[in-house]
Amino acid sequence: MGNFLEEIIEKDLAEGKVDGIITRYPPEPNGYPHIGHAKSICLNYGLAKKYNGKFNLRFDDTNPVKEDIEFVNAIANDVKWLGAEFEVFFASDYFDVMYECAVKLIKKGLAYIDDITPDQLREQRGTLTTPGQNSRHRNRPIEESLQLFDDMKNGKIADGKLVLRAKIDMASPNVTMRDPVIYRVLHAHHHRQGDKWCIYPMYDFAHPIEDAVEGITHSICTLEFENNRPLYDWFLENCDFDPRPHQYEFARLNIERTVMSKRYLKKLVDEGFVEGWDDPRMPTLAGLRRRGYTPSSIIEFCERVGVAKANSEVQAGQLESCIRDELNISAPRAMAVIDPIELVITNRDDNYSEQIDFEYSLGEQNFSRKISISNKLYVERSDFALDPPPKFHRLKTGGLVRLKGAYIIECTDAQTDENGVVSKIFAKIIEGTKSGQGESSIKAKGVIHFVDAKNCVDAAIRLYDYLLTAENAGEDFSKRLNDKSLVVMNSKLEKHLDDAKKGERFQFLRQGYFIRDEKLNDLVFNQIVGLKDSYNK
Ligand code: ATP
Ligand code: MG
Ligand code: MG
Repeated sequence: MGNFLEEIIEKDLAEGKVDGIITRYPPEPNGYPHIGHAKSICLNYGLAKKYNGKFNLRFDDTNPVKEDIEFVNAIANDVKWLGAEFEVFFASDYFDVMYECAVKLIKKGLAYIDDITPDQLREQRGTLTTPGQNSRHRNRPIEESLQLFDDMKNGKIADGKLVLRAKIDMASPNVTMRDPVIYRVLHAHHHRQGDKWCIYPMYDFAHPIEDAVEGITHSICTLEFENNRPLYDWFLENCDFDPRPHQYEFARLNIERTVMSKRYLKKLVDEGFVEGWDDPRMPTLAGLRRRGYTPSSIIEFCERVGVAKANSEVQAGQLESCIRDELNISAPRAMAVIDPIELVITNRDDNYSEQIDFEYSLGEQNFSRKISISNKLYVERSDFALDPPPKFHRLKTGGLVRLKGAYIIECTDAQTDENGVVSKIFAKIIEGTKSGQGESSIKAKGVIHFVDAKNCVDAAIRLYDYLLTAENAGEDFSKRLNDKSLVVMNSKLEKHLDDAKKGERFQFLRQGYFIRDEKLNDLVFNQIVGLKDSYNK
């Protein structure tokens, strides 16, 4: 059984209401797409693909003030990255059609020019429980409205002085239907139209026309537009479009501790809280890409979330498990010591160097390569305890632990600095315990990763946490900023990681998944996701 949109489409196709389907993704180019937008892209493109239809990327560029060509390019790039095939359209290319539609409504006596201010309008329109009041210009003669609309268009009217309103029903129980504004005066430069227009259509009027011009059959939007549907239909009917697109609403994607408002994401960028729209902490597609997410993991996430008719919040772990599942069977394994501390092997001298086998499997495939070990290693600071808790099976004085792929060692001593912080660990190799060389009677409960201090490379590893704290859920985002969302570590990595390509992904043993940053020339790895599933199914 498909989702409710698939049922509608299958019924429309079966009954011959449509010959084929056309869907669209209609972003306003005022920011970079985020994971919520990916939901809309995957849904609309997925439906078009499933039913052999067509998918349009239409820039809803009807508000010249907030829009920018940088955003147009970023959006097209991200939609392509997700794998969608599309034709590009710009809503502003239909300004002439919209203007003609507006004139038609005036001529039919279904629109009038008013001089109302936004404040007055709010008061006049009433609320859910109080009816609206007619404007004194509601019955302005058609000829007069036509003349004033012409004056608006020809630059004779200052911003905010006049508006064109649809004449519908000031007593409608749906406030949206109470004579909404459909055109306003705005002397602003448009990124495509230049200074051709000084009147701009409002979203509710423009959107159905854009859909109709492109022959969209199923216009899918989020739930908050449910009340606007009668208005959508009213414009299409009264502007005499035939055939007419239909609007359907689904629940928007919300993820816990994740900002889903372009306006606020822009604020994070503009105020320098993050490094840019592609900061790996950002829920933008550019950020997720830099963080190491693949298109397939995002598509899989959208599939798993499904299409709902009621709003809810998805756990962040659900997105993480999609990339973790994918990398678990595809990412090469390697060793990296994120927070290094030196370990000296006391029963080997400076000439000691040995090659050991580093083995792992990915799905059905087995891999093996040589790595080196010497008398100076780096191990993870957290793998040593001066004062170990019970059942601590890693490095402690007198304790045994296996170095991954190599020997069991016994920790003999540790050095601390003047502040009591451990600065060096000493250990000895237990002879006869080399991995893969027969059964030894000596066992170690723990296995730790390491790198050879004489054959390693320095790298910055960037560890990430959510941008928002878990506390104060529901509060304004600005009160929830997590100041520990980025921690940069000076790490020691296996030498060959020096050659990692930008954008190459690895599993660092016991640590999680990491990607070599796609932008920086320095050796920087971004943490994609940890190994453990924090999401409880
Ligand atoms: P803003 O955050 O600035 O209010 P927006 O997120 O609505 O804007 P648009 O560019 O208008 O941004 O959105 C493009 C499309 O993506 C719209 O069809 C919108 O319904 C859809 N969309 C936006 N956010 C989500 C979301 N969280 N889940 C699903 N679809 C979304
Ligand atoms: Mg929107
Ligand atoms: Mg919006």
